[in-house]
Amino acid sequence: MIAHLFNAPLEENEAAVGVGTVGSSEAIMLAGLAFKRKWQNKRKQEGKPFDKPNIVTGANVQVCWEKFARYFEVELKEVKLSEGYYVMDPKKAVELVDENTICVAAILGSTLNGEFEDVKTLNDLLVEKNKETGWDTPIHVDAASGGFIAPFIYPELEWDFRLPLVKSINVSGHKYGLVYAGIGWAVWRSKEDLPEELIFHINYLGADQPTFTLNFSKGSSQVIAQYYQLIRLGYEGYKNVMENCRDNMIVLKEGLEKMGRFNIVSKDDGVPLVAFTLKDHTNFDEFQISDLLRRFGWIVPAYSMPPDAQHITVLRVVIREDFSRTLAERLVADVEKVLHELDTLAARIRMISSTSSVTVSEEVVKNNGQVVATKKSALETQREITAVWKKFVLERKKLNDKMNGVC
Ligand SMILES: *Cc1c(COP(=O)(O)O)cnc(C)c1O
Repeated sequence: MIAHLFNAPLEENEAAVGVGTVGSSEAIMLAGLAFKRKWQNKRKQEGKPFDKPNIVTGANVQVCWEKFARYFEVELKEVKLSEGYYVMDPKKAVELVDENTICVAAILGSTLNGEFEDVKTLNDLLVEKNKETGWDTPIHVDAASGGFIAPFIYPELEWDFRLPLVKSINVSGHKYGLVYAGIGWAVWRSKEDLPEELIFHINYLGADQPTFTLNFSKGSSQVIAQYYQLIRLGYEGYKNVMENCRDNMIVLKEGLEKMGRFNIVSKDDGVPLVAFTLKDHTNFDEFQISDLLRRFGWIVPAYSMPPDAQHITVLRVVIREDFSRTLAERLVADVEKVLHELDTLAARIRMISSTSSVTVSEEVVKNNGQVVATKKSALETQREITAVWKKFVLERKKLNDKMNGVC
């Protein structure tokens, strides 16, 4: 079903090639391993060195790619990001490809801002490069989040096996596949793309059982749950859920935009999430917003972008099936409250700073030796700000304890 969803070129009655895993991370290890082995076999056949494999990704890749690279001894070549462009640039990616590249990994739904990378352009540029060089560098699509979104609400978007160089795809069943944590999938374009030597065949359970896994024995409940969801909801059901998520994402995005204090760095077309940054960092930053939102019962992570956009800090809200429109509106209201509190706090800190003549610590002395002004040391200012914060947090805590009801 999943291979068909990703448009695998299967003959009538031909079985798809894929495995169920604990999540996308395991699926990515397996797909990466297949690429590495395939590349090594080809190099050996050609009598060329096969000890320096590399993989090309964007700097925005999920940490499991770094894990794959380190565990399986493959050099990770990352395309750097830049301010305002937070996904892998296909042109720069193809420039990094060399004869030792086992594959280029594109992401359908970047972890950082939910954006879909342009797999079609990557495919077209790589087809050109392969033609020029005689290599046959393939593409893997990490569709951990996007794999259960794009087929339903962006069916026209070409990112999957419709593109000839896409040889394998992973997707997380426990993200938009709507199953509890512990399930992911790796699907290959065809049998030829998964080296037979990696597949173990056992028959002591009564029949031939091919296996290609890293996690060995595990329960089948997640697989059954995925199967149930797919047949229970069907194409229309998943489409409705995804449309609903997108609508709620728009409600949240517009609510945040209206405040005029944020830049939205996620896209309307992508994973239904809102990633946003503060326009003005004079008085407080995204980490403080995240901190204060916790007191309203929201866990909204703040994180800095990877190189070369590490100076940008982002807050991110991922909209899942159970995040209703009412919750979206409530979050907007709570963000407004948090901004108000941070503004008030900043005003109080300014007030303290301007009446600081009481704490004389550093004298600004003019050339003629006369004391004209007093200035606090950096340490003292820091201490005062910390004290105000502490008081503020304690007050809030008291208030919260009294309310005794976080959402
Ligand atoms: C979540 C995610 C992963 C890892 O998936 P798990 O299912 O948690 O192992 C990998 N890549 C991307 C793009 C992701 O969003």
